[in-house]
Amino acid sequence: MEDISVRHVRKEFSRYPALHDVSLDIEGGELIALLGPSGSGKTTLLRLIAGLESPTAGQIFFGEEDASAKSVQDRNVGFVFQAYALFRNMTVLDNISFGLRVRPRQTRPPKEEIRKRAMELLELVQLGGLEKRYPQQLSGGQRQRVALARALAIEPRVLLLDEPFGALDAQVRKELRKWLREIHDRTGHTTVFVTHDQEEALELADRLVVMSQGRIEQVGTPDEVYDRPNSPFVFSFIGESSALPVTVENKQLWVGGRAIGLAAPEAPEGVARLYFRPHDVELVEGQACLAGVVVASRRVGGTRRVELEIGGDQGLVEIDLPFDHPAGEKSRIAFRPKRWQLFPVAGAAG
Ligand code: ADP
Ligand code: MG
Repeated sequence: MEDISVRHVRKEFSRYPALHDVSLDIEGGELIALLGPSGSGKTTLLRLIAGLESPTAGQIFFGEEDASAKSVQDRNVGFVFQAYALFRNMTVLDNISFGLRVRPRQTRPPKEEIRKRAMELLELVQLGGLEKRYPQQLSGGQRQRVALARALAIEPRVLLLDEPFGALDAQVRKELRKWLREIHDRTGHTTVFVTHDQEEALELADRLVVMSQGRIEQVGTPDEVYDRPNSPFVFSFIGESSALPVTVENKQLWVGGRAIGLAAPEAPEGVARLYFRPHDVELVEGQACLAGVVVASRRVGGTRRVELEIGGDQGLVEIDLPFDHPAGEKSRIAFRPKRWQLFPVAGAAG
């Protein structure tokens, strides 16, 4: 179990900054998910931790040690990529034991012990009996489990996984997700898991690191990040969201010249954007609320997601309702968000 500390790391590729000034502390034994859209710098950060790239500036510590001076091999990390990087000409067992077999003689365990450890790992990833198969004779999910067993075989100080289930279909991915969490809880490796799938990250990780454009936007537990996003980006990237321009005046929120029944005693006066979750609303009567006309409606799981045009051309929002509302002028709905957040409008003062 190894703490990892990323300190003010910057990474440029021919002067193009892929990571700006990234600092992150990962606790020993933690399962961390790096989550962000494509191109946000997740793989770059993971490769820097692995030692496959070196930072343009900044440092990475494993425990008390500055890892920058160490080679990839000496860092002793287990790495699993999205594409199954198994050796085609080797059996499952030989694939798993590869990292041990190529060790220098002084640190290489005896043959029998290597075999024993590989067989144990095969059981751990629930592929007992398949040791003589070749990668082509396995399903995608089975191959990724072999890849994981191979990464674990070297008894890594940290386990790094780059979208390991990205190429698999949704059902298999869900199973492997659960299974990875179980393996992690049993083996206790410090694990960094890259994904662009928020559902996967929310379900799997102890903490999420949300990335955008080469920067860390927010670090927190799944609950913290989902319930208290610290920016409009995080609010809309994690989970479903609706947003609407509002005015703060007399410690109240106003939309289109009408108070909507939400008090904001702390917010600065002026324009802002109101964010809420489509499922986190209540239908209300009376004046002080948001009201809109249904412009579209579709099924989302067990509920109806309804798109509303808020009066006076204020914008479109989505809310979830337990029953259908056909689109049309006569379908007016009055509601209020139960939980919400205000963010300053980009470019506005303050
Ligand atoms: P992610 O894994 O989140 O999709 P990456 O870390 O792969 O993002 O990439 C971050 C940015 O750095 C992207 O703009 C990408 O094009 C750039 N980048 C990554 N690797 C290289 C490289 N070897 N050479 C040049 N640019 C790169
Ligand atoms: Mg990537």
